[in-house]
Amino acid sequence: MPVANSIAAAAGHLTEWRQDLHRHPELGYEEHRTSKVVAEKLRAFGFDDVQEGIGKTGLVGVLHGRNGPGDEAHSIMLRADMDALPILEETGLPHASETAGVMHACGHDGHTVMLLGAAEHLAETRAFEGTVYFCFQPAEENGGGADAMIKEGLFERFPCRAMYGMHNLPGLPVGHFATAPGPLLAACDEFEITITGLGGHAAEPHDCRDTIVCGSAIVQSLQTIASRRIAPRHPCVVSVTQFHAGDANNVIPQVVKLSGTVRSFDEEIHKAIYTEMERIVSQVCAAHDCTGEVDGGHVYYPPTINDAAETKFCVEVARELAGEAAVQDDLRISMWAEDFSFFALKKPACFVMIGNGDSALLHHAKYDFNDGATPWGSSFFARIVEKALPVV
Ligand SMILES: [Zn+2]
Ligand SMILES: [Zn+2]
Repeated sequence: MPVANSIAAAAGHLTEWRQDLHRHPELGYEEHRTSKVVAEKLRAFGFDDVQEGIGKTGLVGVLHGRNGPGDEAHSIMLRADMDALPILEETGLPHASETAGVMHACGHDGHTVMLLGAAEHLAETRAFEGTVYFCFQPAEENGGGADAMIKEGLFERFPCRAMYGMHNLPGLPVGHFATAPGPLLAACDEFEITITGLGGHAAEPHDCRDTIVCGSAIVQSLQTIASRRIAPRHPCVVSVTQFHAGDANNVIPQVVKLSGTVRSFDEEIHKAIYTEMERIVSQVCAAHDCTGEVDGGHVYYPPTINDAAETKFCVEVARELAGEAAVQDDLRISMWAEDFSFFALKKPACFVMIGNGDSALLHHAKYDFNDGATPWGSSFFARIVEKALPVV
């Protein structure tokens, strides 16, 4: 079964919508224009209900099948994310971001439009029985928008039995899909380490307590957590990504701040990493006569675990759509994180990667979502609905 005809015919305006969103990227919880555009379109499609302002800028569109609303057992939820990243776009494309320093470098503009494409198609055909909730979430990148929507009663207000989400994947050909049952993406969070020493004249370091030397030693030692303290059977990453120190060439700074991210698949491992981090920071600081403080657990995202049955179902749907060879069902786990994981903790769920072709990598200033992927993504979502909630 190829891409749905009506979706193939819609490819032109779906591309226009996607490029319009790309021109107007908005950061997490600031997706005011984006959510307004989405709500207007859902209403224009004839949706039964559209509820805005869930998790600040998130919204849910409600669409009933041809025989009216379904109960929880006959309802599913589809999800797209809407936020952009604080990156200065360098694509030079005609539809490049018109907001300096903000860009859709993760393809959430494409995710939003793929879901809109399915919404438009299904609102017209209503070839399903029950209810589909179209969840457009804010702040996936680091604001935990999924969690915010859940905390505002998402699943009480829109009871459903399963949830499906999609992310584009550079390097995977357009028209291809990839996923796997079980752990797919890592848990992540962010940490900040503050090291305090004694600032002073760079010409007299013996009278100071040098925070830069101490901080450098801490960065080196933190590398031994994954390589020397956690067993290799437990995938994990500790990356220091920021090192802020000093303002002048002749001053040893009083305070240094390090920050970064921790990735793992297991709550116990996650705790063990922080125990090691605390130990390293306090003891290396002691060796340098400085003091250190670890502030961890910011913006914790759980691991994304795909439900086995829902993954089997998604693979079947994708294979019917794209062909056997275009669908991989054993995608290797990745240390990326996704806040779709919050939904997957609450409902049987499956997260699927869709090919973005030979594009720049995600979060790169030259990345762009591939509009050729949209009909595939929209058709996939539409077929999920038609198969999960069949007309009997
Ligand atoms: Zn991203
Ligand atoms: Zn993303």
